[in-house]
Amino acid sequence: MKMLSGVKFNPQVRDTWKWKAGGSEIFSTKALTTLFNSRLLIPSNDSCETLCNKLVPKKIEVFVWRANKKRLPVLVELDKRCIDLHSVRCPLCDDDLESVDHSLIMCKQAFEVWCKVFDWWGRGGIPFVSVGDLFNDSGQASSFIGKSIWQAVLWSSSYLIWKNRNQKVCKQVLEWTDAVKRDSS
Ligand SMILES: [Zn+2]
Repeated sequence: MKMLSGVKFNPQVRDTWKWKAGGSEIFSTKALTTLFNSRLLIPSNDSCETLCNKLVPKKIEVFVWRANKKRLPVLVELDKRCIDLHSVRCPLCDDDLESVDHSLIMCKQAFEVWCKVFDWWGRGGIPFVSVGDLFNDSGQASSFIGKSIWQAVLWSSSYLIWKNRNQKVCKQVLEWTDAVKRDSS
């Protein structure tokens, strides 16, 4: 009631929507992108050093932000949000619970990718077991561009590992759905 007390209706003017998050009051995807970047893709103490890397597409920056905040829909996170699941074990390897850390780093297929990436860059053992460490790993480069390139490699590899995981999970779901249909017909 307090919020509406100052509202005045004008019967001479048609109702319209106003975009209050920008200066022009007109919504555009550009205005939304600007808002998104300013509010979400900013450094914070509990995330990685910076979530901006000009060498990767924006979708990868968003993916990194989501993974860092444990907002990827891995089975453990869905279970925490009370989604009723048959199992929370990793659908790819079944060796462990499917957490963000497991899915992006410790899962067999992910780990194979990391071994190849580290081998390609002539680096030793994989130094991280959590996505926080993964996204913060600056490699051995001392220059800003060197660190940015290494970060782009890590972020892009993580993104492709996640994309591969999703494709495989979708394929499993489709196969399961087809099997249920066959059994019921
Ligand atoms: Zn796994």
